[in-house]
Amino acid sequence: MKRRQFLKKAGLAGVAGAAAASTLAAPAIAQQRTDMVIVATWPRDFPGLGTGAQRLSKRIGDMTEGRINVQYFAAKERVGAFDSFDEVASGNAQAYHAADYYWKGKHLGWAYFTAVPFGLTYTEMNAWIRFGGGQELWDKLAGDFGLKNLMAGNTGVQMGGWFNKEINSADDFKGLKMRMPGLGGDVIAKLGASPVSIPGGQIYENLVSGAIDATEWVGPWNDRYMKFYEAAKYYYFPGMHEPGSTLALGMNASWWGTLSKTDQTIIEAAASMENDVMMAEFNAKSGEALADLVQNQGVKLREFNDDVYDSFGEAAAEVFEGVRAHSPLASEIHESFLKARADLGAWSKISDQAYVAQRNRVLGV
Ligand code: CA
Repeated sequence: MKRRQFLKKAGLAGVAGAAAASTLAAPAIAQQRTDMVIVATWPRDFPGLGTGAQRLSKRIGDMTEGRINVQYFAAKERVGAFDSFDEVASGNAQAYHAADYYWKGKHLGWAYFTAVPFGLTYTEMNAWIRFGGGQELWDKLAGDFGLKNLMAGNTGVQMGGWFNKEINSADDFKGLKMRMPGLGGDVIAKLGASPVSIPGGQIYENLVSGAIDATEWVGPWNDRYMKFYEAAKYYYFPGMHEPGSTLALGMNASWWGTLSKTDQTIIEAAASMENDVMMAEFNAKSGEALADLVQNQGVKLREFNDDVYDSFGEAAAEVFEGVRAHSPLASEIHESFLKARADLGAWSKISDQAYVAQRNRVLGV
């Protein structure tokens, strides 16, 4: 009996020894150098979006002390903004930083992982992606294109856009040529507008030349930098089209699969951090920028009235019918989104919204 116990222990020791050996071997694998070319849809040093993508790229390099050798290319430095997807899906680059709704022409489901009309706020989006089945659906969609995507930034609630006239009813959208990507563009198309999707770096020239009549972009901090106020004075809020736009780090799935668990976790951590930091930066800088626009640049701040919003709602319902009919996966994503919006909306109403409403009432804000 004693001998058997001894052998058993020896056997366990053998297993432990093997485990120790593999543990020792693991760091050698994790220390493999790998190149990570990141292409972005943003011009270099674009406040918030570009600087956030650059910060994320630097962070991945810093966290691995350069072992993941990140080379970052802003829009047009390697490929055009909207060529980023194919560059990564094909394996020419390892990752992109972008708004995934730019790819709605490839599949309508992509729109949901940036923002959709009457969609989710930043906190709601995080809840859906992390705990409501959102990431799993994103993985399914991205997997069909050879990609693996993570949340890597957020703009928060976006403004409704820049117009050179007042918008008092849905009729004011008739014949309007407006830059608005994603499903928001489909909504204003239902109202008779002609939506166009052009990269951020080309909006100003189109607005100034009159090639477009109106544009949405992000919010006061970003929009001030773009100088849209030189061509359009009416600045509307709130945007129905992008209530909490998530930016994505989209990676080539085959490349992602070659990474060690350590490196995957580092990239996940870096992306998650940027998701948080970018939102904080947008919130911190938007108020001052808005005050400057209104006080010093002659910008006329306007709120969409209820009639306009009701029209947006009716048009959005039609657009969502189109999504359902698009494909089984688009329908599955939409249903998951609807459930999340209902659950999260009910909670937001009596938590964030109820509290802020009372705070503003008491303080007279
Ligand atoms: Ca936008």
